[in-house]
Amino acid sequence: MKTIGLIGGMSWESTVEYYQIINKEVKKRLGGLHSAKCLLYSVDFEEIERYQVEGDWEKAGICLGDVASSLEKAGADFIVICTNTMHKVVDYMEEKISVPILHIADATANQIKKSNISTIGLLGTKYTMEQDFYKTRIKSNDIAVLIPDKEDREFINKVIYEELCLGKIQQSSRDYFKKAIKRLIDKGAEGIILGCTEIGLLVKQEDSEVPIFDTTKIHAIESVHHALE
Ligand code: GLU
Repeated sequence: MKTIGLIGGMSWESTVEYYQIINKEVKKRLGGLHSAKCLLYSVDFEEIERYQVEGDWEKAGICLGDVASSLEKAGADFIVICTNTMHKVVDYMEEKISVPILHIADATANQIKKSNISTIGLLGTKYTMEQDFYKTRIKSNDIAVLIPDKEDREFINKVIYEELCLGKIQQSSRDYFKKAIKRLIDKGAEGIILGCTEIGLLVKQEDSEVPIFDTTKIHAIESVHHALE
């Protein structure tokens, strides 16, 4: 079994999910007392979020690159960044390490392709929905990506940072997300990416008429697959 190097804390609410899913999956596959070999470096999200707001992605990338390098030195065979948004800085990080980073968008695109879906709706932070670093990776798999309109994007982003990353799960926000999902379906989405690792804490399959692709689950299970390959 390979050792998984997890970069968490962005936010820790979703890192807890990763840790549980990974260990449950190892137990399911190997049985007995088996559990995942993993290292977790959990950052202070306040610091990272400040770089996001300032648009200082270089500093964020150097900081997370140093974290990845620490994990490599500690024995990680590959790196899992437990957030969609911070995949924006993988290039900076890859410069500092020689082990691979298991990209969340690639794992998600592979899963979507298996479902024969050609148009997907994307929910995530404003960075993930509006900028190209994530969508390009999905689109390179011949999958068209739809994002919510501006008003929905602003609301979704606010819920992520002001509720979900703080562990607040509110029915009123779930109701809003359900409507935003419906609006994407009406525009042609055949599936929905929960492209932020906290959204799965709020939205479940029953909240959508089309298949949900929860990036936390997909990424965590893919990391087990990779560790046991
Ligand atoms: N965990 C979130 C994501 O998957 C948002 C927090 C962050 O900005 O990293 O994008």
